[in-house]
Amino acid sequence: MQSLTLANGRPIPQLGYGVYTMTSGEVERCLPEAIATGYTHIDTANAYFNEVAVGRAIRESGVRREDLFVTTKLFPQSYSYEQCSSDIDASLERLDMDYVDLMLFHQPYGDYVSGWRAMEEAVRAGKVRAIGLSNFPLHKVDQILEVATIKPSVLQVEINPYWNQHEYKAALAARGLEGAVFEGWYPLGHGDKGLLGEPLFAKLGEKYRKTPAQIVLRWHLQEGNVVFPTTRSVEHLRENLDVFDFELAPNEMARVNALPQRPYYVVPEDAPGFVLAHNDYRKQA
Ligand code: NAD
Repeated sequence: MQSLTLANGRPIPQLGYGVYTMTSGEVERCLPEAIATGYTHIDTANAYFNEVAVGRAIRESGVRREDLFVTTKLFPQSYSYEQCSSDIDASLERLDMDYVDLMLFHQPYGDYVSGWRAMEEAVRAGKVRAIGLSNFPLHKVDQILEVATIKPSVLQVEINPYWNQHEYKAALAARGLEGAVFEGWYPLGHGDKGLLGEPLFAKLGEKYRKTPAQIVLRWHLQEGNVVFPTTRSVEHLRENLDVFDFELAPNEMARVNALPQRPYYVVPEDAPGFVLAHNDYRKQA
């Protein structure tokens, strides 16, 4: 598996498996299949309510913990310095793991500034190997950079051919985060038939004998993105991993990057209702 290198010197597999929207039952059915297919990177979150199942499926896979890269994310209710370290422990307990490879602040609301210190303490305690931010606009990344002794090494945001985040990436490089790794959510458009139906992907797919999804995933890899498409299908699990034997030419990358840009989801400045209401994740079994 092709990897990028995090600021801590550790590799992060560029193609992984995301378990957003999956029930615990689906995780227990699909994640072992994904690991058996060759996936070594798993992206979950407190708010997905499936950390227990992720931990169980990993243990039962028989693959050594150190051969996997596991990410989870805290929701804003956990961010305050007083709350953060105990909620990191709770996450590790649900996963039944001594550490996670990456812990993210999932949403840019609440007391993320005070919580960042607890995230850094978790790195120093060996509970978390790398820390980062998800869905943080530039001005909120700046607030973290003002207090950080360990800078965010991963930024997870929406990235796909309709929202390539070139401006966001350039702005963060200008802030001294040029070594940061960008992870893209909705990498295949979250099931939008319009994205995978783009005539350009069919055309490139014909040339390389690949599906539109494989063309899009190849574009991500060559953009330097880390992605973890979700699927419950064994066929798609295999298909999504079969993208390392061809390369898009520079002019083809440019054509993808010339597609009209618009995000699927605009992250609101203030916490939307679902974030405020989503405070019962600690009860998950
Ligand atoms: P996605 O772009 O991965 O799309 C998933 C959809 O694509 C599913 O409907 C699936 O059936 C379909 N699909 C998968 N492989 C396919 C293939 N080869 N051909 C055709 N269709 C295929 O969107 P997602 O699932 O929302 O995002 C992926 C991951 O990103 C999530 O599991 C999660 O880990 C992460 N994520 C994070 C955030 C965040 O706020 N940080 C938000 C959304 C998602």
